Amino acid sequence: MRILITGAAGFLGSHLCDRLLADGHEVIGMDNFITGSPDNIAHLAVNDNFSFYKRDVSNYIFVPGKVDAILHFASPASPNPQSKSGYFNLPIQTMKAGALGTHNCLGVARINNARFLLASTSEIYGDPEVHPQAETYAGNVDPVGERAVYDEAKRFAESLTMAYHRFHNVNTSIVRIFNTYGPRMDLEDGRALPNLLKQALLGQPLTVYGDGSQTRSFCYVEDLIDGIVKLLYSDEHYPVNIGNQHEMSILQFAEAINKITGNQAGIVYHENSRSARDPQMRQPDITRAQTILNWEPKVALEEGLRRTIPFFKEKLGLA
Ligand code: UDP
Repeated sequence: MRILITGAAGFLGSHLCDRLLADGHEVIGMDNFITGSPDNIAHLAVNDNFSFYKRDVSNYIFVPGKVDAILHFASPASPNPQSKSGYFNLPIQTMKAGALGTHNCLGVARINNARFLLASTSEIYGDPEVHPQAETYAGNVDPVGERAVYDEAKRFAESLTMAYHRFHNVNTSIVRIFNTYGPRMDLEDGRALPNLLKQALLGQPLTVYGDGSQTRSFCYVEDLIDGIVKLLYSDEHYPVNIGNQHEMSILQFAEAINKITGNQAGIVYHENSRSARDPQMRQPDITRAQTILNWEPKVALEEGLRRTIPFFKEKLGLA
């Protein structure tokens, strides 16, 4: 296939490029680098099956030649208010990438009769009142809350995707991505794993926001990419959760990171640092992925952290 990936220079986009090239496809990457990094795709410059366009997907996009699949991954995604690349500080771009960017990508899918895959998110469940979250749960999102620029953009993107499927018969799919970690995460984006792992490797205390009782379920990137690619190759149209079911509190997560890195500096509580509407719990119900895609995650947290640490050490100049 000839596959267009938007957000190709991002954490997930760049891993998708690698995987789809390894599967024998031709990949066209697109990114405007507002949150992605050229470093993530620099190694692909020598690959004849990879080409790249620096574009903002919220403007009209043109891709010469036939395209067989489009994966729309372009969007700021970090919820951290302190992060320059987070969606709190890029609110309009975030809404445009989810709304106008999705519309443009669906247009390319339609004229090419191509498979379309939308990168959606567990954030569409908001601060969930149902636990764990299955795809049938409609979510708890405040449309004017601070996270809404991301949550509602992705919710709109899902609605638009289903409209193109139902009205124009476009071959669409939607993946709802839960917390993911691994090499090529932006160390400065303020999310839990980059913050805590960086602090641990530097011998600093780990900053746990609130009392650390809020839960997340962290998936290693290779598992996540495998689930996404299985969805791409399937003929499923309805949303599918992809994530790791192993739920833990942020405090347990921080303790696991201190243990594996041998960090002796402990934990420091930042009582007031949780962002507004920071979900109290999050765990995917992955029954649909197991049933439809025969997918489930394989990499346990300790193993995933071991595979992630060398990248962090290199970025921190500790390698
Ligand atoms: N968090 C934390 N310390 C940090 C960064 C994040 O305790 O240094 C918490 C944050 O408040 C949230 C959880 O970790 O409850 C996960 O946050 P993240 O930014 O990774 O993304 P989210 O899962 O909220 O989208």
